Amino acid sequence: MNVGANLEAVRGRIRAAARAVGREPDDIALLAVSKAQPLAALQAAWAAGQRAFGENYIQEADAHIDALPDAEWHYIGRIQANKARAIAERFAWVHTVDRTRIAERMSTLRPSSLPPLNVCIQVNLDNEASKSGTDAAGAAELAAAISALPRLRLRGLMALPRATADADLQRAAFATVRQLFEALQERHRELDTLSLGMSGDMEAAIAEGATIVRIGTGIFGARA
Ligand SMILES: *Cc1c(COP(=O)(O)O)cnc(C)c1O
Repeated sequence: MNVGANLEAVRGRIRAAARAVGREPDDIALLAVSKAQPLAALQAAWAAGQRAFGENYIQEADAHIDALPDAEWHYIGRIQANKARAIAERFAWVHTVDRTRIAERMSTLRPSSLPPLNVCIQVNLDNEASKSGTDAAGAAELAAAISALPRLRLRGLMALPRATADADLQRAAFATVRQLFEALQERHRELDTLSLGMSGDMEAAIAEGATIVRIGTGIFGARA
């Protein structure tokens, strides 16, 4: 595994995908998803210039954050109520807020010494039972609720559509998220983030407006 070379390849994919649809590559941030990776792999990514990392599990994230405290940490896992404090205290971003009660808790728990916690609402527009996320109506209600919370900063939407190798289906799923995002922007001008796309579908996500792509295996190889 050569994390530096993999990172260079992923950055090349982002540039190519952006140019193919007339977007600026710099408008797409690369989040390195470091769940189930050894510390050495994260350190190699840091050494190769990667600064933003995404984590799914609090316990593992604690050790990773302790080792790389100057990185920008994003929580992208399922939120359990008893982990809200750890998320509010240790992360700069959370991508997976899907209910008001959790948003309220995180606003209350966000330390006043830190800037507001950046929040994306996770949407689940195909209503997959196995996944977190709210529907379109729920996203509108949640956006209104989050906007009123003092210690949260509403940034946009995150989605994890059904995995498929079919590029047209990938794009269609991302397009529905983008349409919802644009509808929400009419009421919430501050929205600037679409967290869409993983190793297998980042080109489709970038074509549909992703501003953050979340890449794990493309950078670190297969997870243990
Ligand atoms: C694991 C994970 C990723 C990264 O997936 P890869 O296919 O390894 O790139 C992205 N987003 C979320 C929410 C994840 O859980």
